[in-house]
Amino acid sequence: MDSDKLKASIHAKASEYGFRLCRVTRPEVGSLHGEALQNWVESGMHGDMIWMAEDVRLQRRKSPESMLEGVQSIITVAMPYTAPPYSLEKACAVTGSGVITAYAHGDDYHDLMKKRLKALAASLDRLPGNHDQRIFVDTAPVLEHALAESAGLGWQGKHSLTIHRDLGSWFLLGEIFTTLEIEPDKPATNHCGTCSACMDICPTKAIVAPYVVDARLCISYLTIEFDGFIPRYLRPLMGNRIYGCDDCQMVCPWNSYATNQAATIDDLKADPLRPRGENNLPDLASLLHLDEDQFRQRFRKSPIRRTKRRGLLRNVCIAMGNSGYVGFVGDLMQVLGDNEALIRGHAIWALGCLANEQNMDVVIETLNGLLDREDNCNVLEEISISIENIRGKYGNT
Ligand code: SF4
Ligand code: SF4
Repeated sequence: MDSDKLKASIHAKASEYGFRLCRVTRPEVGSLHGEALQNWVESGMHGDMIWMAEDVRLQRRKSPESMLEGVQSIITVAMPYTAPPYSLEKACAVTGSGVITAYAHGDDYHDLMKKRLKALAASLDRLPGNHDQRIFVDTAPVLEHALAESAGLGWQGKHSLTIHRDLGSWFLLGEIFTTLEIEPDKPATNHCGTCSACMDICPTKAIVAPYVVDARLCISYLTIEFDGFIPRYLRPLMGNRIYGCDDCQMVCPWNSYATNQAATIDDLKADPLRPRGENNLPDLASLLHLDEDQFRQRFRKSPIRRTKRRGLLRNVCIAMGNSGYVGFVGDLMQVLGDNEALIRGHAIWALGCLANEQNMDVVIETLNGLLDREDNCNVLEEISISIENIRGKYGNT
């Protein structure tokens, strides 16, 4: 099969399996991307994601040829998902609701993406010539945005995600590494220009320089990957984002063209990634009262299972504390006896935020009452700081 026919057949198959974009590159990562990764890790910006800093995995990211013996080409594909169905202003303004990142409104994309990539790879197996291949979906040590850029699929924006001129950035990436020799596509050119909208809007200023996101500050990392007590100074900046954050994508001018297109191209009825209505600005109080079984049931097949109940409820407590809605005080009091220190500690912080002149006596008395029975040092610290803050704001009772 000649090169053009081979590529046309790969494109046709990719499109059949729901990949809107499909491009090919050589198994190489440019030195700029390699150095940027090294600097990022050396600066500790990967936070607690220690697997990002492991030497073997770091080297693999920089040397895609190490991921498959004899690899000649990398096919990169993009699978769109539906953009948030609300504006950023609306998402932040709905009192009592939390915001979930758009890709997590439906089923977990990893399973679907893997299934589709496997089907695509199986169809490539039937192409002429002996060849070997491996598929990857975001959990492997693969620098997927750099590869997508060199394959011409899209450029890496200043927020570090890949942008395509027509689809914007509302898509997920996957790769097939193959020993087939396929003519590579031309690399993408960058079209961010002088724009800095993503850097300006970022609530925690996590985009510390163009193309550099400090994960330790990024709400996506804090709410999903990080499983500890969130630094207190960052909590007020998180607003009502309870699982991930789309702010930098929502303000990107390239997505203002893409939003409608993504909605029309999705076959929403058949697509497992279709948004579940219940994940569209969900009610915080109903999430806070989920027990383990209810959590598992509510988030069956959802990527949100990743945070476990304790991580999600921690985030919900922060969103409640940031809401300014005093009606949540009663809800928060009900989880002060939760088995998870993470939930108790963040509920205490939230109570400290929602205390006012009317309820402060009750809040302080309740927090003082916890001191005797609490044995977790982080939670004890939250109690002392919350009481101190309330007294600092409203005086001693
Ligand atoms: S996801 Fe949110 S917190 Fe992270 S860089 Fe983008 S705007 Fe900032
Ligand atoms: S918001 Fe502007 S700077 Fe950021 S990724 Fe989009 S185009 Fe680039």
